[in-house]
Amino acid sequence: MGSALSSGAGACKYCPKPATSTRRQLRQYSNIHPLCLHQLPPHIDLSQHQGSEHPTLTEYLIHVFTETYRTDFDDHTWSDQGRYPSSGGSVTVSMPPFGSILRLTGDRDVPVEVDKRVKGEGRFAFLARRSCHHIDDVEFSELDTTLAQDHCGKEALYDPSIFDGIELLKWDAKDLQRAVIELDPEWRVERVQMSMYEMFHELPKIGGKKLLQNRVFHVLCITAHSSAYHLPKASDIETMSHAQSHTMQLAINIHALQNVQSIVSRSRFQASSKTYSLKAQALVQATERQKKHNGNKVTEGKYCSLERLREACDRDPDTPENYHRWDMMTKSDAGGCTRLAPRSTKRKETLNAIAKDVEYVLQYIRQQRLAAISIGDLTF
Ligand SMILES: [Zn+2]
Repeated sequence: MGSALSSGAGACKYCPKPATSTRRQLRQYSNIHPLCLHQLPPHIDLSQHQGSEHPTLTEYLIHVFTETYRTDFDDHTWSDQGRYPSSGGSVTVSMPPFGSILRLTGDRDVPVEVDKRVKGEGRFAFLARRSCHHIDDVEFSELDTTLAQDHCGKEALYDPSIFDGIELLKWDAKDLQRAVIELDPEWRVERVQMSMYEMFHELPKIGGKKLLQNRVFHVLCITAHSSAYHLPKASDIETMSHAQSHTMQLAINIHALQNVQSIVSRSRFQASSKTYSLKAQALVQATERQKKHNGNKVTEGKYCSLERLREACDRDPDTPENYHRWDMMTKSDAGGCTRLAPRSTKRKETLNAIAKDVEYVLQYIRQQRLAAISIGDLTF
């Protein structure tokens, strides 16, 4: 099998960009232009197809994280777009006590309160949200397990619009750990996960009618856990004790990977017919919902996103430091005829949709606690 580069010309078969200079180019990762085969870091499954003009794993992580750790979620370039739920409304999730199988205390009504935010203009704008979670409402470990470990796999469990999510390629933990050692020590990165995912989303009906095709998104998902983040006026000892994680999702050009056997065999996106397509083996284990969508056309969408999760840093009286903080920013193009909707409408809908994810995550954590309680009941 040949590489992505056609011989001599220096052009790529799969994308309009000249491929030969990629390795030396500092690509901007926070955009929705899909990554091509030669822009991905090496992986054993890609080795026959990539040629030599790809970044090393270390180079790749340095490029991505440089942008990540430079991102300021609080500077003056952000504009507030109101709250979710909107004024007057209130949404709560009834949360059973954490780690208490005896149920000595009752459920807590945990509020869902999200700040909606925007940075930039037009189609280049980042849409974002910020939510703060009191240490008595939710444990940091619960947020971290849900959001920063196997990110896309968990998303497929808690986001009701997703009807299938497949891990197409996973980078080896030992290779990633070797690269982590070479990263900027100031980032204090301890461990990194990296996988390629394929996510199928069902779009809502409009006026009771199914007007829009379902969407498929292909992403490279990278999570970095750091031992600490910088607290203003805090000593080094205090700073050391507060964890944070960053999760980046970057769009992937799946058409450039159609010769990679392991990816094609796992994928449920039939690239030639643009359909959601379950192979015989997958069909045996498929849910009713997946069977219903099998064989249907899907539209390819693109997004990139950055999420940051920070542990609360104080257990003193009610101060902002008593809250775990979760930020997310995204740029997306859902593709298809959603392009016809006015940008202001789409922006409003997207901001509300990403705010609603906070509620889904709290509901998922509630389910996990309930499951732990019922296992406890069986044990006693
Ligand atoms: Zn290319």
